[in-house]
Formats: sequence, C-alpha cells, structure tokens
Amino acid sequence: MNITIFGTGYVGLVTGTCLAEMGNHVLCVDIDEAKVAGLKSGVIPIYEPGLESMVKSNTAAGRLDFTTDASRAVAFADIQFIAVGTPPDEDGSADLRHVLKVAETIGQHMERTTIVVDKSTVPVGTADRVRLTISEQLTQRGVSLEFDVVSNPEFLKEGDAVKDCMRPDRIIIGSENQRSIERMRTLYAPFNRNHDRLVVMDTRSAELTKYAANAMLATKISFMNEIANIAERVGADIEMVRHGIGSDPRIGYSFIYAGVGYGGSCFPKDVQALERTSRQIGYEAKLLSAVEEVNRAQKQRLFQHISRHYQGRLQGKTFAIWGLAFKPNTDDMREAPSRALLASLWSVGAKVRAFDPEAMDEARQAFGERPDLQLCDSSDEAVLGADALIVITEWKQFRSPDFGRLAAHLSDKVVFDGRNVFEPDVVEEAGLAYYGIGRGRSV
Ligand code: NAD
Repeated sequence: MNITIFGTGYVGLVTGTCLAEMGNHVLCVDIDEAKVAGLKSGVIPIYEPGLESMVKSNTAAGRLDFTTDASRAVAFADIQFIAVGTPPDEDGSADLRHVLKVAETIGQHMERTTIVVDKSTVPVGTADRVRLTISEQLTQRGVSLEFDVVSNPEFLKEGDAVKDCMRPDRIIIGSENQRSIERMRTLYAPFNRNHDRLVVMDTRSAELTKYAANAMLATKISFMNEIANIAERVGADIEMVRHGIGSDPRIGYSFIYAGVGYGGSCFPKDVQALERTSRQIGYEAKLLSAVEEVNRAQKQRLFQHISRHYQGRLQGKTFAIWGLAFKPNTDDMREAPSRALLASLWSVGAKVRAFDPEAMDEARQAFGERPDLQLCDSSDEAVLGADALIVITEWKQFRSPDFGRLAAHLSDKVVFDGRNVFEPDVVEEAGLAYYGIGRGRSV
C-alpha cells in the first residue's frame, strides 16, 4: 500500500519506517525543513535503538521517502496518518493546533476517497473535529469526496519504539465504518500474524483508551512514590515492599518502581489533559489530580535528601550527574526529572558535571553554555572533581560502577540514587554514604 504520514517525530518516523519495512511505500511529511533535509541524507533526528539502520535500508530500497510538500504527500496515498504533536495548552488541555492544521491540509489537497488515521494522542471528540475541518475545506473547494476518520492511538514506548511498533501488544482501531476497519486490518496484518492483536471499537472509546492507559501507568508510578515516601518515614525499604507486592499476580512486577517521578512527552501532558477534559464536562477527577501532584512533589524528593545531607549548604558544591534523559534508551529530555533537579541545584549555587549516553545534544540545546554546567564525555569524567554523585536515569551502564573508584574521587563520599539502582550495603562498604528513594534506612 501507499501510506502518507504527517509528522516525523518519535511516532511518525517509527511508524512510517515500520510500515515501509513490511513492504509498503511510505511518504513522511513534516513542516520542519531541516529535519526533512537531514532525513533525506540519512541523518536520524532522534535516538531509538534499531531505527537508523531501518530508515536507511528502507530509504535505499525506495520504500521510504520524506518531504515538506504537503500537496505531494496528500496525493501520494489514500491512507493519511496524522502523527503530529499534541503538546499541552496553557491550561493543560491538549493543543490540537497541529492536528487540525493537518486536517485542513488534507481537506485542501484531497482528490479521492481517503482514510485519515489519527495516531496522535487526542481528547475524545477530536475525530469529529478532524472530520468537520476536512468537510469545511471540501465545501470551500466545492468538491464532494468520501472520506473517513479512524482513531488509531499509538502505544509505543520511547527507547523500545521499533520493537513495540513491530510487535505491538494491541492495535486499537476506532471506527464505525466497516470498509475502513477492513483496510486497517489489511494494513496491520503483517504486525498481527502471531495472534490477533486488533481491538476494534468506536472512535470515542479508542480516543479514551489511550488516555486511560497512560493515566493508569502514571498512577502506578505515583502510587509507588507515595508508598516510598511512607517507607522512608517508617524505616521500611520500598525495594523490599516492591518485591513483596509484585509477587501478587493481580499487581505484578512491572512499572512499580519508586524514583524521581515520571517525565517525558506523554505521561505529564496526558494525565493533565484527561484531568482537564474531565473538568470541562463537570467531573472532578480527584485521582488524576493526586497522581499529578504526587509526581510534581516527587521530582523534588532527591533534592530534599541532598539538601538535608548538606544542611542546606550547597553553594559551590559540585555534583556528578549520571543520566539526563527522562528514561534509559532515549535522548528525550522533555519534562525529564533531571531538569527539575538541575534547576534546584543551580538555584542554590551548586555546580553540575553531567553525562548521559544519548541526551548530550538535547542537554546542550536545553541548557546552552553556562558556568555551572559541565557536559562530560563519560560517566567516569563526570565524577572527576565532583563532591557527590547523583543518579537520575537508570541506564544499564550506570548500574555496576567501581565503587572503590567513586569513593576515591568523590570528595564528600556520598551517592544519591534517584532510581534505587544500587544496593545500599555495597555502596556503604566502599566507604560512601547512600541515599535512595523510599529506603527508610537512609533517613
Ligand atoms: P514529536 O514532537 O516528536 O514530533 C511531531 C512532529 O510533527 C514534529 O517533527 C513536527 O515538526 C511535526 N509537525 C507539526 N505540525 C506539522 C504539520 N502541520 N505537518 C507535518 N508535520 C508537522 O511528537 P511525538 O513524540 O512523535 O508524538 C506525536 C503524537 O503521538 C503526540 O500526540 C503524542 O502524544 C503521541 N504519542 C507519543 C508517544 C511517544 O512516546 N513519543 C507515544 C505514543 C503516542
């Protein structure tokens, strides 16, 4: 099939590449000229394991191409995916400007029966707005063409995006149109061979499913952080508690890690947007507000440990920071807990020597040149001349450091572990003080 994808971000680029990998011809369109020029010459704007080689091989095979020319893109296919950003508006609700702009563009250029597939995360009712926007454009042009809008929310995880796209847990198709459902079934058949992962439902339920999934995951994190805060105060260890509760299959082990709070481009904005949607329809989503509030406070939790350890005297101290991305295996720093921590450290006159395996370019863009930030080439280099170590992102390469070496280099001999990746006993045996999250022994 020929497929057009609007947006070459994490979702658009990965989806387009995976569809091309299955033999489709895919044209990705973006308004960002530099990004498109880069992609055309093999420069991949994001880090995702496995993505670069797949983009290059499919481009070389002539199945994947990039353009900024929207009319060419609309003419290319009768299936048009929308995978543009839906950032938070000023009041926290989803900003649909980009999605509706794409709808307008499709309406302006469409010349045949078309299926418009929305992959962006959008509030319930957006498919109707997309439909209306396209209809208005067709009316203005004085043409009558059939089209359908399908909701097909995306569930890939940054860091595992290619794998998730190639082997999705489920494929949600929100549509009331049998012909569109069959086209989607055919398009996704290669991703659906092992067992049927396609879940067909009405458009509104599909739109809500995406928010419900992210809100549930964010709730798990905030719940564990809440228990961690209790554990700290009663002298219990959240890591023991985690093992204890995870063993119940109704709870399970996944996604119940305490830490420095969730970040990224999805959970914060999606929890907020769902909460705002609820408010707009006169329902107060108390649980969602609490999930957000716990997360906001949790992003400061490690700084509180640091501040207490130093009795507030942080001026002139130098901290080695391991990890800046909001989670491992990505370069994405949007809403990353590292940003909140760095802002707090800088506000009290502390200095930072930071290293992240993939997010250094992002960090350079986010923070620019400043005297209290040294971006380092390795985790070892970050530690040189530092007083203490802070772990913010649980990259695998940070998990088993040489604690003897750390003790030799860190002048204040203290480690703040925002992800509970170290065993306190092992760290302490090396002569270092240890602070984790929710590890009662550390207070
Ligand atoms: P992103 O910010 O990485 O990329 C969006 C891209 O869309 C940008 O390159 C931008 O230039 C482009 N764009 C904006 N307006 C355009 C237009 N009119 N025409 C063509 N291109 C345009 O966004 P993302 O992380 O890929 O997310 C896209 C959507 O998918 C969001 O709604 C997000 O919530 C959702 N989502 C994201 C993830 C994730 O892990 N990132 C996972 C699931 C769902």
